Amino acid sequence: MNEYSDDSPYFYHPLENIEDVEIFNEALERKKLTRSLQPDRPYTYWTIELYDQKDGIRGGGGLGMLAADALRVADDNNIPFALITPFYPSETHQYMKDGKLFDEHRKMNYHDYGFKLIDQVNVKCCDTLCHLDVIEKRFKSARIIAITEPNFGELYSGLSGSDHRLYQEVSLGFGGYAALKLLGLKPAIMQLNEVATFFAALARLDELVKNGMDFYEAVVYTRKHTLYTNHTLVQAAEAEFSIDQFERFVFPNVKSLAVKKWLADKFTNGHIKLSSVTIEIAELRSGVSKLHTRVANYRDIAGNKVKFKPITNGVDLKTWVMPEIMDYYQKTEILDQHTMPMPNFQNQVDRLTASLIRDFKKNGRKILNEVLKKYPNQNGDIVSFDENAFIFDFRRRFVDYKRPEMPFREPMRLRTILENSGAYYVLAGRVHTGDSVMYEKLKQILKTISEDDYLRTHVFYFPDYDEKLAYGLSCGANAAINIPIVGLEACGTSWMKDIANLNLLISTHDGGVADASINSYLNVSGASEDEELDMLYQRMEEATEIYQNDFDLEFTIKRQLDAYLPVASGARMMQDYLDFLFPS
Ligand SMILES: *Cc1c(COP(=O)(O)O)cnc(C)c1O
Repeated sequence: MNEYSDDSPYFYHPLENIEDVEIFNEALERKKLTRSLQPDRPYTYWTIELYDQKDGIRGGGGLGMLAADALRVADDNNIPFALITPFYPSETHQYMKDGKLFDEHRKMNYHDYGFKLIDQVNVKCCDTLCHLDVIEKRFKSARIIAITEPNFGELYSGLSGSDHRLYQEVSLGFGGYAALKLLGLKPAIMQLNEVATFFAALARLDELVKNGMDFYEAVVYTRKHTLYTNHTLVQAAEAEFSIDQFERFVFPNVKSLAVKKWLADKFTNGHIKLSSVTIEIAELRSGVSKLHTRVANYRDIAGNKVKFKPITNGVDLKTWVMPEIMDYYQKTEILDQHTMPMPNFQNQVDRLTASLIRDFKKNGRKILNEVLKKYPNQNGDIVSFDENAFIFDFRRRFVDYKRPEMPFREPMRLRTILENSGAYYVLAGRVHTGDSVMYEKLKQILKTISEDDYLRTHVFYFPDYDEKLAYGLSCGANAAINIPIVGLEACGTSWMKDIANLNLLISTHDGGVADASINSYLNVSGASEDEELDMLYQRMEEATEIYQNDFDLEFTIKRQLDAYLPVASGARMMQDYLDFLFPS
């Protein structure tokens, strides 16, 4: 511990004073950055989670999906873009047998997904040198750089403050940074998605100091070139690491004693939250929806509330919108060739008719039925749906705040709605391994379904929720149900896929949905959960009625598109990031 003591001879400035220094003119500096976004100076996007099954990487949810969409949008727009992430050699699938939920672990080999082995890099952990493969897959202007080794483990395996998680995060940060050097790349900007990627910025800081830059200048430089994107709401929920864990996994990889000392000083009572240091090392900070940036409660080390720039998530519309609808959007100049809404897209949206909407949705139903051939329901059966049947869908990770069980609280009311309209209710979502609370809720939902002879044949649960199922359902369902407890969804992107595929949205006013007015969709609200539930049932009934009436259907779908097509566009999101990072 001697080298971290206060009388350390090493040159060292406390970061608190950084704000006082005016060496760098922000705007000027940012302009310089714009010019330097080039193939060998790419936008670097750091993420512990990528959800991109065709490249062999399955994520856990929205964070990974967003990363994949950002990559595709960047590539489509010719932006030099490097996404750095782990390749997990194993992944979990979920299935049901005899009414019980099981995990199945599948081995994943990067050679099967077109990755090329570049070389190896090392990180030091617990007195041993760990060898990591650096693998790469290139697209047009974007690429995935992944680091992996046979014992890297699964995404989010173990507890979030565990040694293994720290090992994975350190490997991504230090290993990933070394990988960039190996490939001759210098980051024009480092976007840190969530604090699990903090070590990438630390590796850069350390490298600058090691190369002779004054520690203080190196900190300023790193801060100017780092964007911390927060996707979570409460700092309090974040796991902590202990100084002992840092001694074993982090400090051995830091070469500069000044950097070590800086980091060691950030511990309180022997523990550290990565958000506190991520906030320090990133001058640019963003949140993922307007509401999120207002309610996210993050404090810096001095205790001041952190301000985040709102940049609402979007999705890659080329990936998520069914081809017929995408053709229509582009032919009628609703979207341009890069899926950015055209300046007066609303005039074009206005020409959409109910019969077109119904035709598109019939086509979407075919896509859904095709996808469902590979996804058994809760009973192990393959189901398909009539093209005229109305389908409600609730598809998202089974976590408490998203309230998957809510529509089942009054089974008779749900049954009546479905019976009166001949509608189906489809649930899809995985329970995080070990989440016993949600597992119990799921069991209760399934019990409710199986105990009612009508629900049994009209409500289906698909356990192995993934990208393809998400696509099938957003093409083939008619109304999406999105009912997070207000204030708890950072953004959510599933509902964007539904809006763009012309589904009715029944939602609470939360996350990115709250970017537009509460009158833009079928809103669910209330002073209590009972009131919300009541309104949810009303909205579900209303949705089936809207579908019977041409005028109402056109009106409702157009209103949604007018309000949310720009929000949903991943091209818009990318433009917002570029405008923020590189103002002209
Ligand atoms: C779109 C998508 C998500 C994102 O879900 P949200 O809960 O809306 O953030 C998660 N998983 C899959 C498979 C998706 O397609």
